[in-house]
Amino acid sequence: MSDHEFKRALGYANSALDLLKKSSIPPYPQFYELLYTYATGVNPTLNHRINAIFASGESPSASLAETLYNEFLKSDVNDRMSTVSERMQVRIEAVHLAIDHAMTTANAYSGSLQAAQGDLERDIEPEDLKTLAARLLTETRRMQDTNRMLEQKLEASRDDIAALQRDLDDVRRESLLDPLTKIANRKSFDEGLRSAIAEARQTGNPLCLILMDIDHFKTFNDTYGHQTGDQVLRLVAMTIKSNIKGRDLAARYGGEEFVAILPNTDLKGATIVAENVRQAIHGKELLKRSTNEKLGRITASFGIAAFHASDTAGSLIERADRCLYAAKHAGRNRVLTEESLAEINESRGGVTAA
Ligand code: GH3
Ligand code: MG
Ligand code: MG
Repeated sequence: MSDHEFKRALGYANSALDLLKKSSIPPYPQFYELLYTYATGVNPTLNHRINAIFASGESPSASLAETLYNEFLKSDVNDRMSTVSERMQVRIEAVHLAIDHAMTTANAYSGSLQAAQGDLERDIEPEDLKTLAARLLTETRRMQDTNRMLEQKLEASRDDIAALQRDLDDVRRESLLDPLTKIANRKSFDEGLRSAIAEARQTGNPLCLILMDIDHFKTFNDTYGHQTGDQVLRLVAMTIKSNIKGRDLAARYGGEEFVAILPNTDLKGATIVAENVRQAIHGKELLKRSTNEKLGRITASFGIAAFHASDTAGSLIERADRCLYAAKHAGRNRVLTEESLAEINESRGGVTAA
């Protein structure tokens, strides 16, 4: 985590604690998470709701906080996972019961067969033989019925388990996507970066990381509203996605920040990708679909770092973040790599070879 990121997170944490104190909401972890999210502003709809509560003078109770937490933050994926596992449990219990029943019937049948064998070894009257055959027939039918029932239960379970498997796959896939933009989320980015680093370390192939952040997005949201802002985030996500290929991974890093992992790519190649994305974003004149209102253009700034053998995921992200920060300071709507940043620093420091 860079110094800049640390300070930002600390600022959010302090605001969250202040709000908890001010509104006398119990400082439980979920309420802290709610107000931390509020402080970051990443969920504009949530912020609208909380602002409205503050503005109305209504005292924000724990139950109101609980309602907001359930509505905005409680993980839908977790809920769906428990539903799937509960259904799985019910299914498995039903199969166990059917198997138990079939085993009891099979044991009883085997007992009857043994008894019949004993009877047959002795001399037996034709009348008794008839009774014995009838009894065996009844028992055999019962056994057949039980087997059929077990087969049906197993068949139903097989269909159910296949449906559950599909549900689980959906949940797993969704848990890796950002719900707003439908590109990879932070969790899949973390996993993707870990494996890209392991591969670069093993093969010695280059690897680059692009971090990008929309410029003055707060002003855009304030001017045109959060829903239009959300549309722009979707558009930006699609623009990045359409400018990468193969095993590259584009993800939403948070709020209005995106990231791209580019395996087998050096700084030169990564700069071309970032430039293409930058120009594509800048080149789009935004129109509000519902009213055809012209919303002007947006721009984004980019920082690029290349993997070094001594890097961890954290140090690579930190260098890309430093480049991004420098790109913002240099005037935004630009791409800065760690090489160009080093050159700028060198010329600023006036360090020259003798
Ligand atoms: P800078 O050029 O320095 O990056 O300025 P900025 O305004 O983009 O940066 P700042 O960090 O001050 O604000 C980021 C804004 O992004 C805050 C919030 O309004 C907006 N934002 C973050 N997440 C979302 C989202 O999911 N939807 C919408 N509509 N806006 C979001
Ligand atoms: Mg930002
Ligand atoms: Mg921004």
